[in-house]
Amino acid sequence: MKKRAIYWFRNDLRLHDQAGLTEAMASAEEILPVYIFDTRLFEENELGLVKTGKFKTQFLIEAVADLRDNLQKAGSNLLVMTGKPEELLVDLAKAHQIEAIYASQEVTYEELKVEKALKKKLPATCILSLVWQHTLYHLHDLPYGVQTLPDIFTQFRKDVEKQSRIRKCLPTPKHIKTIPINDWGQIPSLESFDLTEPKADQRGVMPFKGGETAGLVRLKQYFWNQDLLKAYKETRNGMLGADYSSKFSPWLALGCLSPRYIYEEVKRYESERISNSSTYWLIFELIWRDYFRFVAEKYGNSLFFTSGVMGKEPYLKNDIGLFFKWAEAKTGVPFIDANMRELNATGFMSNRGRQNVASFLVKDLKINWTWGAMYFETMLIDYDPASNWGNWNYAAGVGNDPREDRYFNILTQAYRYDENGDYVRHWLPELSRFAGKSIHDLGGMSSRDFQNLQIDYPNRLVDFNKWKKGK
Ligand SMILES: Cc1cc2nc3c(=O)[nH]c(=O)nc-3n(C[C@H](O)[C@H](O)[C@H](O)COP(=O)(O)OP(=O)(O)OC[C@H]3O[C@@H](n4cnc5c(N)ncnc54)[C@H](O)[C@@H]3O)c2cc1C
Repeated sequence: MKKRAIYWFRNDLRLHDQAGLTEAMASAEEILPVYIFDTRLFEENELGLVKTGKFKTQFLIEAVADLRDNLQKAGSNLLVMTGKPEELLVDLAKAHQIEAIYASQEVTYEELKVEKALKKKLPATCILSLVWQHTLYHLHDLPYGVQTLPDIFTQFRKDVEKQSRIRKCLPTPKHIKTIPINDWGQIPSLESFDLTEPKADQRGVMPFKGGETAGLVRLKQYFWNQDLLKAYKETRNGMLGADYSSKFSPWLALGCLSPRYIYEEVKRYESERISNSSTYWLIFELIWRDYFRFVAEKYGNSLFFTSGVMGKEPYLKNDIGLFFKWAEAKTGVPFIDANMRELNATGFMSNRGRQNVASFLVKDLKINWTWGAMYFETMLIDYDPASNWGNWNYAAGVGNDPREDRYFNILTQAYRYDENGDYVRHWLPELSRFAGKSIHDLGGMSSRDFQNLQIDYPNRLVDFNKWKKGK
């Protein structure tokens, strides 16, 4: 048994089903819980945008505050710092005679770089122990080593469903014996990262509040109070309002919700309410999430290369002007602009929307897909490196998609998923004079026609005829 250990919280900001903290508590007499805001997350990317934007940062600040509250209820606290974890943790280890640092194991480049630097700098008297969590299926319970992970999702899903088991949730610790310190540190403000507070937008799907407490409330609401899970498979392609899908993603991305806890709640719902294809489908989606995480583990940095995990020749046009028309919702394609406006105003976009705007950027505008992924990284409240870059690989045709050259006909998608044009009218009120589904192709009007009608809407960047001809 070690005397003193640090538990370094990363993207696992919860106390329920907390495998890392549980292991730390089993291995050391006293724990120092720490969270470090890594300043590199707030630097600019190559598009000149801050890597982590205001929506996710606000959610993160709330999640850290909630974690501190919950730790205090368990007789502990959270030391909050800002800087480089590999430096601050080493200083802490030396100052407090720490023998081990426990933390969640990550899979993507920047996180691994920090782990490596930390390992190198730690004194010989202190070990770094990384614990796998974040997924439904544990890495060690896969039917194969991750290097032989199938390149097709369906194969992976069938294999794990047949051959792997999902481990049970771990109990929430009631009391954490904690190293006493004097100064637990201040939780930084958005302003300290040069970010402004996002305005609450009534048009958004729902208000998102960071933290385990709010995540558990959302689950209770979606499953139990509103009984929405039983229809998830039918509603999940919706785009308006809180009810069409779970909206668990921001909490999952920061680890405020454990996927195994969601799984156990689905199973309880199945036994107490109903078991049907919808209840299964939520688990199916969580397996997708697992899959992208394992893909990231298998393929490493190629996830971020333009040639993607499959090493293919991608669509690449580095036209920054065109790119920002997409980003700023000025493409002249209402279905695309409505989705981008939602993202820019709220930090959220439905899965249907994400698939369409990604396909449009890559396949219609033929723009460098990594820019799209970077833009999502900045804007999404639920940004998760493996899910985001994995899905963008897929959309760009350089990832694990068994279908060659998948293409979304945007007009067909708009007619199918926004049948009466309500979603587009919701986000583009300047077009509300177009009734029903005519809002999607605007009756073929040009920017001059719009000017005559005094409608401020940009000229279309693509010819809609290709979609009308079914391409
Ligand atoms: C281009 C693109 C980028 C994306 N970037 C992200 C991202 O950064 N972070 C993120 O969490 N999701 C991402 N997704 C996946 C998906 O769009 C969101 O997880 C989903 O829209 C979140 O809404 P929800 O929680 O209501 O999902 P639900 O439909 O209720 O699904 C439940 C959970 O399953 C998981 N899930 C569902 N679909 C996917 C998927 N395709 N890939 C991975 N996990 C999935 C999510 O954790 C989600 O919360 C991206 C999809 C695309 C097409």
